[in-house]
Amino acid sequence: MKTNKFKRVAMRKIILSLFAFLFLINYLLAQENKKFEERRLNIVEKAKDSLVKISNHTFAIIAKPGAGNILIYESKDGFIIVDDQWEDLGATINNLLKSISNKAVLYVLNTHFHFDHTDGNKAFGKNGIKIIAYDNLRKKLLSEQHIAPPIDVIQKAYPFEALPYITFSDSLTLHEEAEEIKIFHVNNAHTDTDSFIEFKNDNVYHTGDVFVRYGFPFIDDNNGGNILGIIKSMNDLIERTNDSTIIIPGHGPISNKKDLIVYRNNLQLIVDRIQDGILNNLTVDQIEQTNPIRGINWNNQFFVTSKIYKMIKKTKASKL
Ligand SMILES: [Zn+2]
Repeated sequence: MKTNKFKRVAMRKIILSLFAFLFLINYLLAQENKKFEERRLNIVEKAKDSLVKISNHTFAIIAKPGAGNILIYESKDGFIIVDDQWEDLGATINNLLKSISNKAVLYVLNTHFHFDHTDGNKAFGKNGIKIIAYDNLRKKLLSEQHIAPPIDVIQKAYPFEALPYITFSDSLTLHEEAEEIKIFHVNNAHTDTDSFIEFKNDNVYHTGDVFVRYGFPFIDDNNGGNILGIIKSMNDLIERTNDSTIIIPGHGPISNKKDLIVYRNNLQLIVDRIQDGILNNLTVDQIEQTNPIRGINWNNQFFVTSKIYKMIKKTKASKL
């Protein structure tokens, strides 16, 4: 009898802790969703984006913080747009497009998989507009993804209609009468889904979040992001551009080649400082104490020494 009673008590304890565990999981998921929802509403409310003509055939919607910049190409037959922000902003974007002309949207190109650049796929995709992106971007949108801290958000799987219809493994070109639009993949930079989009004749680029103007860039190391990939892609882009090239960053104002150079140099300086620490056998904490971002006039909310330290170690180990 005593053993039975003991068993019952033990069983009750197990059931209670199981409930407590399930409750905790539910609570954490609810918190996660709440965080995502608050962020979304905040951005949708503040969506007073500005439309700017930047070249013969291109326009940009320079977004408020929290939503990615959109680039619009106006062809004879319709619009080709790069990134589409949030689903709820579909109407706002369409109104801005109507202020240019009544043409339809032909294609949407995605720079990378993050929600603040691709959530609008749900609105455009529903209307049968074809979405074009790098192969791995489509794969990422097929299932739930955990965007790395400090963003730390679960991005849910996208419905079929919001997925890219056309994908490519290296690059793809759209041949317009007056323009050659090239979308090409960039290896492990902000994420492992990044592309740059070049408008050759108008000398315009959209870089997605590989190049941003809010300070030290958020790098999604849960999804293949690596600072060394960003620096490499910046070196390539600096080579491809000239003093009259117009650059639309993922976030922030319209930029130029000089801005790319400052950004690349700052990132390289930070990497060199951490690399020096590694060569001098300093621990991560000791490197952290040297403040590797010192003297750089940047918002450093996304700068974490240990993340960069790991990226450098990992890249050296795999000799990328
Ligand atoms: Zn991003």
